[in-house]
Amino acid sequence: MIELILEDRCIRCDKCVKACPNEVFDSLPGELPVIARRDECHTCFLCEVYCPVNALYVSPYSVPDPALSATELAARGFIGSYVRNSGWAPVPQRP
Ligand code: SF4
Ligand code: SF4
Repeated sequence: MIELILEDRCIRCDKCVKACPNEVFDSLPGELPVIARRDECHTCFLCEVYCPVNALYVSPYSVPDPALSATELAARGFIGSYVRNSGWAPVPQRP
């Protein structure tokens, strides 16, 4: 389930709004998208896949897990982990 949008990373491109098949987000021009219908999220991860700057976190669980803050999620490497682990993100090349 969609957990959060990281305000300091989001570039307000609305790609997540357009990618979400369940219209979970509301767009506010020039502002952070709003997670307006969290209960409609079916954990498809498309918003994470389309976000160009890893500013979203979708938990693999079907219920909200408010226990972890954005700082804790980032520290544990969870932000962008679906995209990274599923091969959607470029793999860093060895020098
Ligand atoms: S995980 Fe899928 S359904 Fe949930 S907010 Fe993202 S795009 Fe929408
Ligand atoms: S796709 Fe990412 S950067 Fe663009 S509005 Fe959504 S959260 Fe922000």
